[in-house]
Parts: sequence; C-alpha cells; structure tokens
Amino acid sequence: MKYALVTGGSRGIGRAICVKLAQMGYAILINYINNTDEANLTLEQVRQAGQEGQLLRFDVSDNKQTKETLEAWIDSHPDDSVEVLVNNAGIRRDNILALMPEEDWSEVLDITLKGFFHTTRLLLPSMIRQKYGRVINMASVSGLRGMPGQSNYSAAKGGLIAATKALALEVARKRITVNAVAPGFIRTDMLEGLDEATLKKEIPANRLGTPEEVAELVGFLASPAAGYITGEVISINGGLYT
Ligand code: NAP
Repeated sequence: MKYALVTGGSRGIGRAICVKLAQMGYAILINYINNTDEANLTLEQVRQAGQEGQLLRFDVSDNKQTKETLEAWIDSHPDDSVEVLVNNAGIRRDNILALMPEEDWSEVLDITLKGFFHTTRLLLPSMIRQKYGRVINMASVSGLRGMPGQSNYSAAKGGLIAATKALALEVARKRITVNAVAPGFIRTDMLEGLDEATLKKEIPANRLGTPEEVAELVGFLASPAAGYITGEVISINGGLYT
C-alpha cells in the first residue's frame, strides 16, 4: 500500500492535505501532538474519502519520539511504503525580538527545522530504494520576506526553504522531488488573535485563503505530473507578494 505522512494533520491546512491526498488514492498517516479528538475527525474525513488512515502521535521536534514511532511503523509494514511526506507541523510564537523568551525562539525553530530533519531522514531511505518520492515542506510568506514580530518564525521558514533547495539537489537523480509551499494568510486556528479586517487590507485578493486551496497545490506537487518541479518554493497568497 502507498502511504502519505502529513505532520500536523489534525487541524487546519494539514487536515485539508490529508483529505486531498486520500482523494488521490493514498492511505494517510496523520501525525499530531495534542488534539486526539481533532485528529480523529481528520481520520473520519480520510475514511469518507475512501481511504485507510492511521493516527501517529509524536512531537516532530523530538528525535526519540519521532524515531521510535516511525521505525515501529516501518517494521510493522514491510510491504508498504511512505511515498509522500508533507512536513506541515508548525507553530508561531510572535514577539518582538527584544522581548522574545529563548524558549519561544527555540520551540518555533525546533518544530520546523528539527521536525523536517527527523521525519525526512527516516523516510528518505525507502524513497531512494523505490526511486520515487515526494517531500513537500510547509514554509510561509514570512520565510520569504520579513514580518515584524516573527523573527523566530521567519528564521524557521527561511531555513526550511534553504533545506528544501539543498535536499532537492541531493535526491533529484532518485526521482524524488523536494519542494516548499509558502502560504500567505490562511483561515486556520493559527490566525487566532489576528484582526481579519486588518489582514485583508494587505491582501490584494481581499480575503484569506482556505486550507483546501493550499491542499490543491500540495496535491499537485505530490502527483506524478509534477515530477520535473523540484527545489522550488511556490507561493499561495492572494497576491501578497514579497
Ligand atoms: P494549525 O491549525 O495551528 O495546526 C497546526 C498543526 O501542527 C496541528 O495539527 C498541530 O497538532 C500540529 N503540531 C504543532 N506542533 C507539533 C509538534 N511539535 N509535533 C507534531 N505536530 C505538531 O496551523 P495551520 O495554520 O494549519 O498551519 C500548518 C502549517 O502551515 C504550519 O507549518 C504553518 O506555519 C504553515 N502556515 C500557515 C499559515 C496560515 O495562515 N494559517 C500561513 C503560512 C504558513 P495538534 O492539533 O495536536 O496541536
């Protein structure tokens, strides 16, 4: 069976990606950290799309947890492979740099950058053996241009973009593509506390994006049709250019 692993699949953009990849025929591994109820809702939607799914609870920033969970899955599924990996888990802890606690700097970078490292390192060997794979990293407009109050988040997403480009070169010959998606403002829990009217003034399309719109783009990058696109960062932001 062909699987897709979506980190942070319990809510928001990750949930929409799980459903899209299920519609494309993938069985889905839904990673999350806290919200089992929300993860179960995603699982229900994956099943409604006609596919199998499984919850995998681990903190992507924790090497031990990630390794134990994914190695146990790999060992118990000798005939299956993870063909698509979407590194989507992320958080924001906004603050001006002068007032930013060290843990807010570290947590944001660790979930994004160590998260990418931990999952991708474990799943690449089987993609290399199969000579096929798709790695899609969820970056952000903040990783392309500065956003005040987001030096930690911008550093994390900018680093993720750089890692995307480097890894793409390493594995291109193995028919594995590695791309990043850079959303603008998308209607999810992550925007909680931000004023929608103020955000809309900045967006030429005059609206927030939807998780489903991001999932369509990820679905295309995950498809065989996108096999000649690698090392790219694709923006999806309603015209909110850098
Ligand atoms: P969200 O609704 O807040 O969901 C975040 C997801 O990440 C949840 O599934 C959460 O799991 C999971 N997660 C958080 N920390 C984790 C960890 N340490 N290990 C594993 N899973 C973890 O966020 P979203 O808006 O969908 O964002 C998804 C991605 O898109 C993020 O990388 C974000 O930076 C990026 N993005 C979002 C926007 C936007 O406007 N929304 C714009 C640009 C980029 P639980 O449910 O268990 O907490």
